[in-house]
Amino acid sequence: MNLKVLKFGGSSLADAAQFQKVKAIVEAEPSRRYVIPSAPGKRFSGDAKVTDLLYSCFDQAQLDQDIDESFDRIVKRYEEIISELGLTLDLQREFEIIKTSILHNAGRDYVASRGEYLNGLILANYLGFDFIDPQKYIFFKENGSFDSERTNVILSAVLKGHQHAVIPGFYGSMPNGTIKTFSRGGSDITGSIVARAVGADLYENWTDVSGFLMADPRIIDNPKVIDVITYKELRELSYMGATVLHEDAIFPVRYAGIPINIRNTNCPQDSGTMIVSDASSYNSDNIITGIAGKVGFSSIAVEKDMMNSEIGFGKRVLEALEKSEICFEHLPSGIDTMSVIINTKELEGKRDFILSEICRLTVPDSIEIEDNLALIAVVGRGMVKAKGTAARIFSALADASINIKMIDQGSSELNIIIGVEDKDYIAALQAIYAEFIG
Ligand code: ASP
Repeated sequence: MNLKVLKFGGSSLADAAQFQKVKAIVEAEPSRRYVIPSAPGKRFSGDAKVTDLLYSCFDQAQLDQDIDESFDRIVKRYEEIISELGLTLDLQREFEIIKTSILHNAGRDYVASRGEYLNGLILANYLGFDFIDPQKYIFFKENGSFDSERTNVILSAVLKGHQHAVIPGFYGSMPNGTIKTFSRGGSDITGSIVARAVGADLYENWTDVSGFLMADPRIIDNPKVIDVITYKELRELSYMGATVLHEDAIFPVRYAGIPINIRNTNCPQDSGTMIVSDASSYNSDNIITGIAGKVGFSSIAVEKDMMNSEIGFGKRVLEALEKSEICFEHLPSGIDTMSVIINTKELEGKRDFILSEICRLTVPDSIEIEDNLALIAVVGRGMVKAKGTAARIFSALADASINIKMIDQGSSELNIIIGVEDKDYIAALQAIYAEFIG
């Protein structure tokens, strides 16, 4: 049987009008049986997310400041939703318990989790679904990491007894029963956990964009939506800064082989982006799936004659990095040169040390740090089959008079990484997008 789990983000549940859209979406298909809400998000630009309001209430209470005004703001958000939807639900008692807890040193995570908890109570009432509190069924270990196996066994057993349920996102509990949240945006993770627990055929993640875009809309005017992307491609693009989904939300569904469908609550007619393990059954003529990039990298270029025949040279460069506690991103090398690409922030306070360590361990002819480097990842499963992709990238950049500082092709041929100067970053991204996508 077809079974779907739906997660709705904060903007999809920001007010009563958004709740109505959510109800219409859920009721449009009988397979949509399990729903994960976030806390109410922003209704307009400049508005506050309820989660942020809860965090500031917590901070005020810690400083012994009065929380009446800020807590009332939160209460008003929920009361408005309840009254505009015409529900008879009364959350007065819940509000009192939460306020008292905040004033009596409740934990920060408990306070933040109440945004999802209250929204879950309202949504369950509005949809006529059972309410399942994740405090009892989503578990963290003593060290604070998510306990996936214990959660899966217990959550799947309990959800078998519920034909339809609303499970608030973002939190679970520690072994001693106290509430713990995931990191910000963590309702995505709850959705994924529930999808795995019920063995869903699809995890629908409803947000306010019609899917994962092929490039950053702040740089490319109206970029196309990616219709199908693999988990591996998504990881490459997300790593370079493209985000729609919490990174940790991938693991539970990927493990269980459940695809994710990113959808837009405000345009439910759009089919969105499918995220799958294996895209071979989907037809696509696209060579490129997406382009993403970041500025703020540095390269350490080490040069030494006959480097290629010196055994252990690379190892010694890496040893110097390890000693300096610096992570590296890429290691492009030539016959007598080796470069290490590093996030510039990693070098803070460590420049002299890393240079002297590399010199001590490798005795190079020259060594130089160059800053202001941008990296662009051109990602696509279609590149393995297509000839001339790199040539097209290089000519597009040459035509735009952009100097390429570094090239690195992943061994899976899933991506080509290009390094350019920060000042050329935007023009480079635009040139590559225009070449492949138009
Ligand atoms: N409400 C939480 C946040 O704002 C979790 C979420 O929305 O996914 O981060």
